[in-house]
Amino acid sequence: IAALAVGLGACSSTRPADGGGAAASGGTGECNVGIAMPTRSLERWINDGEQLQKKLTDAGCTVDLQYADNKTDQQISQIQNQISGGAKILVIAAIDGSTLGPVLEEAKSQNATVIAYDRLINGSENVDYYATFDNYKVGTLQGQFIEDQLGLKDGKGPFNLEPFAGSPDDNNAKFFFAGAWDVLKPYVDSGKLVVPSGKSPANDDAWASIGIQGWASDKAQAEMDNRLSSFYGDGKKVNVVLSPNDSLAIGIEASLKSAGYTAGADYPIITGQDADKANVKAILDGTQSMTVWKDTRALGDRVFTMIQEIKDGKTVEVNDTKTYDNGKKVVPSYLLTPEVVVKDDVQSKLIDSGFLKASDVGL
Ligand code: BGC
Repeated sequence: IAALAVGLGACSSTRPADGGGAAASGGTGECNVGIAMPTRSLERWINDGEQLQKKLTDAGCTVDLQYADNKTDQQISQIQNQISGGAKILVIAAIDGSTLGPVLEEAKSQNATVIAYDRLINGSENVDYYATFDNYKVGTLQGQFIEDQLGLKDGKGPFNLEPFAGSPDDNNAKFFFAGAWDVLKPYVDSGKLVVPSGKSPANDDAWASIGIQGWASDKAQAEMDNRLSSFYGDGKKVNVVLSPNDSLAIGIEASLKSAGYTAGADYPIITGQDADKANVKAILDGTQSMTVWKDTRALGDRVFTMIQEIKDGKTVEVNDTKTYDNGKKVVPSYLLTPEVVVKDDVQSKLIDSGFLKASDVGL
């Protein structure tokens, strides 16, 4: 990534490439920041918001941090309040990435700079920068994990797979699915992976048909319950579940447990993302196989750096200027690298780095 950043240095821009205003915050030293996060119901967003708020406050910025209970209308009115409160920089993790166009018009009319946080905001020219983890890579890591664990490259199979995808209104979800499906679909086509429920998208673009609205654990659980009761009679077993994140994995695991699947015996491989405490516990007790860890502290640090650059009128460093087309522009992006965590890595990657405490996960 560092090398890429240097290579693409010429593409960085002091001001947004579309020239759509935003001059007022540049170089004025003003640091009035609105942070709009989706929900407190998921650990990661609490960490994301509070860490960034603390760093900014310590640096002398004025910060307003809001959570919107996964409700789009609530998020829009929170952003409106931040704009009328004088925010010059907005950091937004969108709930529905396609509904923020009008409120971002308001932001621009006040020359605020907009950073899409973790999730892209679609259909608006007024998105200046995007900071995230490499979302396609998250899916690739999940797909490759399944490929390795099952020995698919060595011709093993067939195995019964149940794929899930994330919330249809979250732009990230399609990248997660595409990354995984580009690895797994060839095995579905060759018959080495069989999807008894038939919930097997014909291609990457059809992912939303198996998306779980709002990334809700209870909806994932209900969906898995349905699949198990409708398609797994007479002793047939699920061998592997592609779950795009930890909140879905928790619901799927609850469903598997109530259907009698037992760790160490007939329990399937199951993927995740985020390294939430409950899921790391599940990894330790054998009811989840892996999680894709995104160190949200690093994302916060990157956005903090962007904010300093914006307020000081410096060039904003990005390392990707081609992937994230939001329908109106390709948004200059900074992508961080996600990594796989399995049972043996919990101590060295999550605890030793201070991301989690040993007591959080019963160690
Ligand atoms: C994030 C994931 C998270 C999911 C549900 C996605 O946009 O990238 O880290 O698990 O939303 O909140």
